[in-house]
Amino acid sequence: MKNHNPPTPSPPAAARVVSGMRPTGALHLGHFHGVLGSWLQLQPTHDCLFFVADWHAMTGAGARVPREEAVYEMVLDWLAAGIDPARATLFIQSRMPEHAELFTLLALHTPLAWLQRVPGFREKQASHPSYGLLGYPLLQAADILAYRGEWVPVGQDQSAHLELAREVARRMNLAVGSALFPEPQALLSASPRLPGLDGHKMSKSRGNTIAMREAPERTRDKLAQMPTDPQRVRRHDPGEPARCPVWALHEVSTPPDQREALAAGCRSARIGCLDCKGQLADALLPQQARWRERAAAYQEQPKQVHWMVEMGTERARSLARRTLKDLRQGLGLHA
Ligand code: SF4
Repeated sequence: MKNHNPPTPSPPAAARVVSGMRPTGALHLGHFHGVLGSWLQLQPTHDCLFFVADWHAMTGAGARVPREEAVYEMVLDWLAAGIDPARATLFIQSRMPEHAELFTLLALHTPLAWLQRVPGFREKQASHPSYGLLGYPLLQAADILAYRGEWVPVGQDQSAHLELAREVARRMNLAVGSALFPEPQALLSASPRLPGLDGHKMSKSRGNTIAMREAPERTRDKLAQMPTDPQRVRRHDPGEPARCPVWALHEVSTPPDQREALAAGCRSARIGCLDCKGQLADALLPQQARWRERAAAYQEQPKQVHWMVEMGTERARSLARRTLKDLRQGLGLHA
């Protein structure tokens, strides 16, 4: 399996990292090679807080309260991937009323225009005109600032939200007259956006995913359906891996020396697409087997998983309470 490139820039060791994921149930390869890849790199050397963003999952047209099974299926995939609750703090956002209190205090100091100018707000507002939508980036700021988070792994599309969190941190520091909040920095993910079965970005909403714990025969079937280089119409037409969505999966799954041989075979039409996909399955299936194996061990002890989240939630709560206490004091509110 390809090593993930380190997110850039590299934060100093032991810096605090805060990151959340919306609970959508079992995760897919796009999640693994995106967010989870960054988390796995950071957890050995940083103070990581990873949370289930279930309030965020309730923002948007038609959004519902996430099912508990969806929450724990996702946590199970975190653990299957190698997220270690002994090293990282795992918790659930909605169990932390401190986020809501901080959100309120931040809201009192945040100009409306700052929220209205966040990219995407105006378009989404048309279909879902709610205060929750307007306040969504501010709740994200509260998620980070509650722990005085210093680094936040983000995709390019989230960098405007993080910029807002930085502005809000500066504003609050002025309000309390001290550097209570660090300005959180972006760790831009260097991981590629994985294409799904239809060649578009892998996502549940498109129904084009391969699950981390997909059964082997389903993975092989799904790979067989994937489109390839559109210019390779017949078996003897030479292809170009750069034009082929299957290649993006090879890049994160197949060892480099094998990839070189495959690329040469594609360009010279020495190999067919079925052979190429077969070799991809050979690289991918052992990874998925490892994830299924780890998940199965946790599935036998569901209480243990709940306990891990419980312990994480307790630690997160004590950190957030300390922040809120300092903030109340700084603002002159009664303790
Ligand atoms: S041989 Fe592989 S890389 Fe080349 S077009 Fe076929 S599937 Fe894609």
